[in-house]
Amino acid sequence: MTKFLLISEDSEKEKVIKEVFSSDEVISTNDETMIFDALKVEEPDIVIIDGDIQGIDLKPLCRKIKQYPVVILLILGEIPHNKDVTHNANLFIKTPIDKKLLSATIDSALKTRQSLLKMARSNQELARSLYQLNVLYNTSSQLAGSLDKDKLIKIMIEGIEKSLNFDLSCTLMFRSEREPVLIINSVNKISDRLLEALKLRAILSYKSILSDPPYDIKIGNLKIEKNIKHNIDEYDFSVLRYDNMFSPIMLNDEFFGFTEIYREKPFTTEDATCFQTLVQQVTIPLQSASFTQELKATNRKLQKLERLKSEFISIVSHELRTPLTAIKNAMDIILSGKAGEMTENIEKFVSMGKRNATRLSGIINDLLDISKIEAGKMDFKFELTHIEPVIEYVKTNLTEVAKEKNLIIKYEPIGDSVEIYADTNRLEQVLTNLVSNAIKFTPSAGQIEITSKVVNARELQYDHCFEEDIKKLQGNYLQVCVEDHGIGIERKDLNHVFDKFAQIENSLSRKVGGTGLGLPIARQLMESHNGAIWCDSEVNKGSRFYFVIPVANDKSNFNMIKKQLIQKARSSGTTAAVIKIKSTDEIIDSLMKEENLLNKTYMSNSLIEKENGLTTLSMIVMDGDKPSCEFLKKKIDTLVSQNENRYGKCDIMFSYEIEGEVHEKDSYS
Ligand code: ADP
Repeated sequence: MTKFLLISEDSEKEKVIKEVFSSDEVISTNDETMIFDALKVEEPDIVIIDGDIQGIDLKPLCRKIKQYPVVILLILGEIPHNKDVTHNANLFIKTPIDKKLLSATIDSALKTRQSLLKMARSNQELARSLYQLNVLYNTSSQLAGSLDKDKLIKIMIEGIEKSLNFDLSCTLMFRSEREPVLIINSVNKISDRLLEALKLRAILSYKSILSDPPYDIKIGNLKIEKNIKHNIDEYDFSVLRYDNMFSPIMLNDEFFGFTEIYREKPFTTEDATCFQTLVQQVTIPLQSASFTQELKATNRKLQKLERLKSEFISIVSHELRTPLTAIKNAMDIILSGKAGEMTENIEKFVSMGKRNATRLSGIINDLLDISKIEAGKMDFKFELTHIEPVIEYVKTNLTEVAKEKNLIIKYEPIGDSVEIYADTNRLEQVLTNLVSNAIKFTPSAGQIEITSKVVNARELQYDHCFEEDIKKLQGNYLQVCVEDHGIGIERKDLNHVFDKFAQIENSLSRKVGGTGLGLPIARQLMESHNGAIWCDSEVNKGSRFYFVIPVANDKSNFNMIKKQLIQKARSSGTTAAVIKIKSTDEIIDSLMKEENLLNKTYMSNSLIEKENGLTTLSMIVMDGDKPSCEFLKKKIDTLVSQNENRYGKCDIMFSYEIEGEVHEKDSYS
């Protein structure tokens, strides 16, 4: 049935209209004040205005009526000249009224109106879907930026609220195994009765989703978090009669929680899809958050275990070393004959015991070294030195052992001798390990060659599995190579020989024994020297082990000096004192720029001479070429030796100018 509102004072016209639309409802008025009440209350489909009506200004009336967009406005009479009227009216019917024309015109107008209404509805739906899509998009980008479970759930609830305008939402999750929490977001306050009901409902839902719930939730241990928008009105039980949607939050079949929303206005199917999508969206970031959390916890556990293990190894090794030294000493006494005459048999067995005790003490030393390195407690005595004596020492030491297998150790330096800044004992340790391995893994007869030469980092050749270690090198290096013609190492194992306790699968390595710690220790020691160690090899042809150490006083090592300074400055939060020379300043300036680490303090010599000058500093870079340098060195030496604890942390670097570049020459620490 169509509803008409007729605005006319002409009873004739009213009669005609009522006649034509006898099966519809026609309300008529000629009182201007009543028109808008009738529009609001009766909600007519069609308004018919008599163009001849007196006392009513048609212009504003038409404009106002058209603010009700679904109403069709028909004017009876001549088409008026006024634009406001013609613009706002939809139809015009001339008088006297042609009944058939009137009926047909209204019929077609109603059909048009029907289609327009449909279009308006779909437009509204489209706008709503677009808005929801937008919220989905924004929510998903926000979710991607977080790994905090609470924050992720908060973003999800906000997204649901924005797109679905709920009145109330309840989300259950576990902060930890024993900490279930119910997050309630509500437009209004909630009564205590409703809160109790919501808690109960959450517990029941939890138990009904999981056939065998892993954790128990009780009213008493369920924590409540309320986020209330307006504190004026209060919701009661009635909310539970609102339309509602529920979705569990599952992470790979594992229950994480659930969320339930209530709204007075019923949800549509599109709303349900949007809700499911939003809940679905949070699962992947939640999963990543869980993994990260687990990973962090495992990492902490591992670090603790690693520390405990290192401490354990260190304690046990110390405990073993003392009695072992006593055993070795006792055997030495027996072998020297001081304990009395020995038969050949006794000598044979005691020598065997001594050899094994020595081997055991080597293993213990390795274990101690690795635990010290891992704990960052390895001490180094760096000094300017040369490699040749180190190689000669190791060669002499191992010649006898090599001879037992009919092996010769050859050493050939290539090129001039260069200075390196190193701990000689540690270099001997690395080289001894390499040459011992070469002897161990060469079945019999042949030669082991040691060579040394200066190379630039750019010229180094290595298998790409060592790239990480070697690509950071810059400048000139002293390279030492130990080459054997033994059993070799398969390519796939090349890098692993430097892993802790690694003993690769070859029959000989199992036969000859060993801890698998020598090479990892060597790698760490080389790292502490700002160098590197690597190898290449061919099975049954032999292996070449290389290590490199930066050449001291080399122009290209400017970066290395900087690196050392940065490391020292970082570990001590340094204040650096500089005795001004041009190029020392350059280093400090570039450090300040690049690392923002050092506070530059210029100190006069006299200030350093005063005892107080030193106490505030943890690093001093000074011009080693200054005439007063020798005097200052002595002065600092005395101060340091007088009170080691006090100055123990102060690094003093003497820089010398060589062809316009500055180099660390000497250092006390
Ligand atoms: P180990 O005390 O077991 O020798 P290392 O760390 O020195 O421990 O060496 C680890 C492993 O690397 C050895 O067990 C061996 O399998 C392999 N390896 C080391 N040097 C050589 C070499 N020159 N030739 C063949 N294999 C080697």
